[in-house]
Amino acid sequence: MIKPISFNIEKKMAGLGRAGVLSTPHGEILTPAFVTVGTKATVKALTPEMVADLGAQVVLANTYHLYLEPGDDIVREAGGFGKFMNWHGPTMTDSGGFQVFSLGMAFGTKVSKLAKVGEVIEGEVIDKGDEAGKLAKIDEDGVTFKSYKDGSEHRFTPERSMEIQHNLGADMFFAFDECTSPGAPYKYQREAMERTHRWAIRSLSRHRELNAQKGAEFTRKDAEGDYDSLRSSASIPHKSALFGVVQGGRHQDLREESARVLGAMNFDGYGIGGSFDKDDMGTAVGWVNAILPEDKPRHLLGIGEPEDLFGAVENGCDLFDCVAPARMGRNGTLHTRDGKININNAKFMREFTPIDSECDCYTCKNYTRAYVAHLFRSNEMLAGTLGSIHNLRFIIALVEKMREAILDDTFDELKTNFLNRYKK
Ligand SMILES: [Zn+2]
Repeated sequence: MIKPISFNIEKKMAGLGRAGVLSTPHGEILTPAFVTVGTKATVKALTPEMVADLGAQVVLANTYHLYLEPGDDIVREAGGFGKFMNWHGPTMTDSGGFQVFSLGMAFGTKVSKLAKVGEVIEGEVIDKGDEAGKLAKIDEDGVTFKSYKDGSEHRFTPERSMEIQHNLGADMFFAFDECTSPGAPYKYQREAMERTHRWAIRSLSRHRELNAQKGAEFTRKDAEGDYDSLRSSASIPHKSALFGVVQGGRHQDLREESARVLGAMNFDGYGIGGSFDKDDMGTAVGWVNAILPEDKPRHLLGIGEPEDLFGAVENGCDLFDCVAPARMGRNGTLHTRDGKININNAKFMREFTPIDSECDCYTCKNYTRAYVAHLFRSNEMLAGTLGSIHNLRFIIALVEKMREAILDDTFDELKTNFLNRYKK
């Protein structure tokens, strides 16, 4: 069989930025592209047809969530999460690492506490401290964690993450990595990064075994002319791509080392994970992308604010995912060309204009701020749907414009004009 994905760069910017085409078993993705998150094999409040109408090209589901509920065995029987949820385009799953660590230890809010815990880390078994220790425990082999749902105990290893992701059946996977807190000290960031590199080798090795089995099954059925079986729900014959995940926190030397070590491992693509300083995220992403192989797609995990997207694109990232646009949309915090608004504010109750008059989404074409405000204030279910549609389309359309601007050599102009108005 041919390679699971291929990536062609159409145009390069002066720096690291580029526009390209990523071909997957379920279609092409024009990059840069915003990846829509469907945590539990559903983009909350939206049908897959609505998701497609947003211009979404690819959906990412979370391994951790689908493993716990309904279970990756059920998703496998359904023919993979794309088929399960009736999304026929390209798909991705994350490694489960981020949720194991973040849901296990109140990520972000307890930075100082984690930093303190990090300082006393010694030896192989790392206890994440009082609260975190109850939910996630790391050793060289993997992580034992308790379910956020019922407290039951589970264990992920790099091999297990690959097996679960193969059951979930997406086109693109991520290697199992250790996510650190932004406040963790250097010594711990280095340990976690080195462990992530050892886990990357194990992820790649198990992934290749599982891909080879799929290939053998495909070849046999293909030779037998058993096309019904190839198309049947139980078989997932296509091979999947694996992205290695660069870590290293905020430290330039660690990030560069991580990019060098993983870059040499011949992954199909690369994820950039963990935390950066908000102010110079673009710079830090640039350290990594200057080293990673140029011909592989790069996915910056967990960003979705306009300013961050500009920084990531001009510094060489091709894909991004984030729950924030949809989550904000469901809560009534809506993007406009002039910055975010909170539609719950009383001043919108009599504004009979679209949320953003320049937006081409279904919500803005058909409804007023006053109506959407009314839905939010009366807790109507349609509020979350209309809010999600608008915010997701706003971000997807912005990244589409970035792609066009790269092709037209007008990226800097777009960035300046957009951010001047958005931040005013
Ligand atoms: Zn809109």
